Amino acid sequence: MTQTEIGTSQKPRHRKGVDDGSPQDDPRSLQDGPGSLQDSPSGTVLEVENLHVEFRTRDGVAKAVNGVSFDLRPGETLAVLGESGSGKSVTAQAIMGILDTPPGFVTQGSVRFRGTDLLTLPEKARRRYRGEKIAMIFQDALSSLNPVYSVGFQIGEMFRVHRGASRADAKEKAIELMDRVHIPAARQRVSDYPHQFSGGMRQRIMIAIALALDPEIIIADEPTTALDVTVQAQVMQLLADLQAESQMGLILITHDLGVVADVADKIAVMYAGRLIEQAPVLDLYASPAHPYTERLLAAIPRVDLKGQELYTIKGIPPNLTDIPAGCAFHPRCPYAQAICQEQVPALDDVSDGRRSACHFWKETLDGTLANR
Ligand code: SF4
Repeated sequence: MTQTEIGTSQKPRHRKGVDDGSPQDDPRSLQDGPGSLQDSPSGTVLEVENLHVEFRTRDGVAKAVNGVSFDLRPGETLAVLGESGSGKSVTAQAIMGILDTPPGFVTQGSVRFRGTDLLTLPEKARRRYRGEKIAMIFQDALSSLNPVYSVGFQIGEMFRVHRGASRADAKEKAIELMDRVHIPAARQRVSDYPHQFSGGMRQRIMIAIALALDPEIIIADEPTTALDVTVQAQVMQLLADLQAESQMGLILITHDLGVVADVADKIAVMYAGRLIEQAPVLDLYASPAHPYTERLLAAIPRVDLKGQELYTIKGIPPNLTDIPAGCAFHPRCPYAQAICQEQVPALDDVSDGRRSACHFWKETLDGTLANR
């Protein structure tokens, strides 16, 4: 798997049975043959339905994603939120088709891009969507960029491999993209190496690589985690501006509710591989409909509570080879009742565009759960 295949700046990795991104697999041929593009009748650009992913390990089967469903419209930003191990990055890898198989397997579900189920496509057809239609930005730019190639070479590689551009043309395109992501003195810096850039500038280079082929969706996996707060805000603003320009859909994966408040349209909260709440961003911040979301919100540091101990959610996320029966959050939930240990709560419709998987979502919303 190379960076040109997935529209990212990951170091080249090769997998069995995956060819090398040569021009004969030009993604422009997506209009024809198997995997050709269609318009989704629902107006969505991506529909993920009942997705299940498991990892078969020596210690058992880890159920990393358990029935996740959501959709994304053009120009929309979906933030996928959860602690480490909640399944958000694995969901992204399954959508991109970059799961390491084995040990990871998609065992059920569908991932429809404009009506075409990517999971049913042969690998050769599937790989034409990566970078061209759906691109990904990873969190650690320094380890994802190749240290021995200039940034211009790495950005230009997208045009050389996917578009058959000459080296000179690819370099010009790289400069244009560096300008577009606001890297100062792009023409002078196009031949510099990754270590010569700051963390924020390297993340902009990752974004430039993802943007190269004008994808319809970008999946950004913790794109600001390694950055300080000011640079985080700049990178988030850049992503929002680029999205407004091109109307691409954006899936923003994060563990930090504070980062997404200003940019997301809707939020999906994951726990133990399940979607436990989904809501328009303002509704979720105003009144969470799940005790776990309520606690994630309480854990956001606040300047008006300076000097007070930061709130943390007690306990740790469950082992995915041994997910608790019933509601997976019940061992950590202060409101858990007997039913919570026995029955998995369904993801109920709460209101338009809003769902919660808690037996007591009504009481969570009206604040009476705390008094039970
Ligand atoms: Fe807590 Fe029960 Fe709701 Fe789970 S279903 S979040 S344990 S109240």
